[in-house]
Amino acid sequence: MSGAFSGLRSGGRSGAGGLTPSRRSSRRLGRFAPSPTGPLHFGSLVAAVGSFADARAGGGAWLVRMEDLDRTRELPGAADAILRTLEAFGLHWDGAVLYQRTRTDAYAAALARLGALGFTYSCGCSRREIALGGRTGPEGPIYPGTCRGGLPPGRPPRSIRLRVGDARIGFADQVQGPQFQDLAAAVGDFVLRRADGIHAYQLAVVVDDAEQGVTDVVRGADLLLSTPRQILLQRRLGLPQPTYAHLPLAVDAAGRKLSKSHAALPVDARDPLPALLRAWRFLGQPKPPERPGDVAGFWMWALANWNRARVPTCANRPGADVIRP
Ligand code: GLU
Repeated sequence: MSGAFSGLRSGGRSGAGGLTPSRRSSRRLGRFAPSPTGPLHFGSLVAAVGSFADARAGGGAWLVRMEDLDRTRELPGAADAILRTLEAFGLHWDGAVLYQRTRTDAYAAALARLGALGFTYSCGCSRREIALGGRTGPEGPIYPGTCRGGLPPGRPPRSIRLRVGDARIGFADQVQGPQFQDLAAAVGDFVLRRADGIHAYQLAVVVDDAEQGVTDVVRGADLLLSTPRQILLQRRLGLPQPTYAHLPLAVDAAGRKLSKSHAALPVDARDPLPALLRAWRFLGQPKPPERPGDVAGFWMWALANWNRARVPTCANRPGADVIRP
């Protein structure tokens, strides 16, 4: 885990690529990290547009990472469809796309390091047992610590968890403002490797953000509560902490988050401008003075006019259009 772009091939199917080492250190580096569980919908487009504009407007680089660790949730063809849609929207990335399914060794090495430092333990509990035995926090059942002192006799290990101890993590979110979480109270010891052997998102995202040298994480506010877990892992692994900006979430007419599982309509890659303009407005950015002729024209104007400070904290704050799919 040695920093920007190390271990990654350069020269992907899209984008400029070819960053020189001297430009890497001071350059803003953003990323978009979709899970290929379905086509790109409006909510993911907002995250892509926000992270892209934020990185590119400051002359920075923008990477795409395919979060395809959980093959059981993957929709065949979705990863390629997402990449084609990004290109149609003018969201051209630098370097090669990083596929998490190729990164198992790096996650295993990070897990081993945490284990050697005494931060992990094997857990033999099933989800059902945890749901019955624990309190419920904002992110679901909080692990009651049953296996923290060792597996009960005769219990085979299922998952590997991180001891959070008395970690209390604060950070300044660039959009949502100051954040604070007492991890034991809010989430408890969390899973790093699942019972099915798949490394957890929380571990993978930290290892990959560091490996890729990401300096600015810009993503949907559904991940705001995950951020303290990620910062704790960065600290324990001795990795740099990027800045975080959590964008307002697009909600459907019933007020639910738009996500692939809610079967939100995919954005139309054949007619990208209307959705692009909606995503831009959703992020609190000004209307272009005249309607851009095409996607390239839009970005030419947009990158000169992006202002992170205008991004609203939530979708229905004045200044942001409430967008319905
Ligand atoms: N893969 C996650 C998602 O699609 C995003 C992870 C991240 O940006 O950290 O919701």
